[in-house]
Amino acid sequence: MSLELSVDGERWRTHLRAVAERTPGLVPVLKGNGYGFGLHRLARRAGWLGASTVAVGLYEELPEVAPRFPGDLLVLTPWRPFHEDPADPALAKRVVHTVSRPEDLPALLERRPGARFVLELATSMRRHGMTAAELWALAPDLRRLGGRLEGVALHLPLAHGGHLAEVERLLTDVVAADLPSRTVWVSHLTDAERDRLRAAYADLELRPRTGTDLWLGDRGALRVTSTVLDVHPLRRGDPYGYRGRTAPRDGHLLVVSGGTAHGIGLEAPQGQLGLKDRARSVAKGGLDAAGLSRSPFWVDGKQRWFAEPPHMQASMLLLPQGAGVPEVGDRLDARVRYTATAFDRVVVS
Ligand SMILES: *Cc1c(COP(=O)(O)O)cnc(C)c1O
Repeated sequence: MSLELSVDGERWRTHLRAVAERTPGLVPVLKGNGYGFGLHRLARRAGWLGASTVAVGLYEELPEVAPRFPGDLLVLTPWRPFHEDPADPALAKRVVHTVSRPEDLPALLERRPGARFVLELATSMRRHGMTAAELWALAPDLRRLGGRLEGVALHLPLAHGGHLAEVERLLTDVVAADLPSRTVWVSHLTDAERDRLRAAYADLELRPRTGTDLWLGDRGALRVTSTVLDVHPLRRGDPYGYRGRTAPRDGHLLVVSGGTAHGIGLEAPQGQLGLKDRARSVAKGGLDAAGLSRSPFWVDGKQRWFAEPPHMQASMLLLPQGAGVPEVGDRLDARVRYTATAFDRVVVS
């Protein structure tokens, strides 16, 4: 019994198909912990969705994804001379590198003649990418350098619909570079923004890179649960835990699955209490006043407090008197960040 992600498979697959249908050229992004699902699972799912290309974050992620997805593999982290990209010719043919500095292109093509690549243009994110001036300067050299240009990549901030002005400026820069590819790989555009850009730049082919809105876009299909491993009655003043704390009030101590190894961390105590509120809370035996933090675990309809910082694979929670006490083996709902959680089990129905 463990920290588990259960997926309503029918509902999840319906959502994935709906996103794929309204997003022509969709490039599913699979990186990190596979958005909680695992890279291997998303790789197969992307194939099932009919994607021609997926994006991975790192070269190191290719071995897990490549055997499970038959198409092209865009690597989002820009190529650098110190990266170890795959030498295996069958795999190398499927890899599309991201080049974000002009000097990296000749270096890449010297090491991997014929390599496929996208040129990343800097956006207001300022994470990676060359300037428009650098792109224009590089454009006339592309034929001589060789390789295969697969388009321009733009990584946009999470502006929730506020991108049009920036993207229009960037696309104008792309068109002005007069490149031998009309493909633009973009992230974080809304459906409405993509439709407008498709109409305004009809000769460009947009390839939307999407992770969160695809895999995690229908939260109602997902449920995270932890298992109650132990329940101990507590009297006010009883000691517990690694740190010899004492119970601030009567209740129960719950030991539940999920700890630091799963990415369960301490959150700051919620609702920063003013002095007066704190005094009132202390008078009531409030747990926030006792310096405790809220856990991501829900018991009897409420988010409960950590009794002490989470352990490696389990957490201790305080359940005040009066709350319904779960039994060993019961499952508790947990609210976690999917991209930062390592689940013990993922069950797709
Ligand atoms: C992670 C990432 C994406 C996908 O982002 P989501 O917010 O998960 O959709 C797209 N492009 C790049 C370059 C990324 O690093």
